[in-house]
Amino acid sequence: MARNTGPTCRQCRREGMKLFLKGDRCFSDKCPIVKKQRNQPPGQHGQGRRKVSEYGLQLREKQKVRRFYGVMETQFRRYVDRAQRSQQPTGDVMLSLLERRLDNVVYRMGFALSRPQARQLVRHGHFSVNGRKVSIPSFIVRQGDEIEVRPRSREMASIKEIVERGHGRMVPEWVEVQRDQYKGRVIRLPERQDVDVPVEEHLIVELYSR
Ligand code: SF4
Repeated sequence: MARNTGPTCRQCRREGMKLFLKGDRCFSDKCPIVKKQRNQPPGQHGQGRRKVSEYGLQLREKQKVRRFYGVMETQFRRYVDRAQRSQQPTGDVMLSLLERRLDNVVYRMGFALSRPQARQLVRHGHFSVNGRKVSIPSFIVRQGDEIEVRPRSREMASIKEIVERGHGRMVPEWVEVQRDQYKGRVIRLPERQDVDVPVEEHLIVELYSR
């Protein structure tokens, strides 16, 4: 399965914002984005790139969201296509679909310290949805779905530690979590106001309407 294997922090520097790809480190002083001298686009001419075209703005916005959720281009295109076929505003549906990815839900519930870690845990088969093992990070959850750490995985020290460290994390309103039972439920589908990614989704919609 395709995934981005490049330097992680470089992606944040490219987008000029925290994408929270490294767990605890993202909340510490070690984050290059909070170190002033590294808060500039990567590369020799990073600081010199100032003038951005309309297309450039749209492209950056798309890349930012894609990297935030760790989605490759082809998959992202599928979300946009599906959103465009919907009767609802395209940007809202696209963001809702991204939020409903199983790896994102696992992260949101505090069962992983970052989305990349959540993706890996899902791929390794540590989670079930409604009692059935699901190892596909892009699996789209529905209202009422119950997401659980599988019984054997609960015994693993590494999983226990991750869940323990995720304790106290803000959980979005559209999910409820019973951390002591290693499970959570999707109460309702996420709406635009539930998405805390600073994004101007209309730029992405315009990009794909060209
Ligand atoms: Fe690196 Fe995390 Fe900071 Fe991004 S937010 S630059 S991944 S430490």
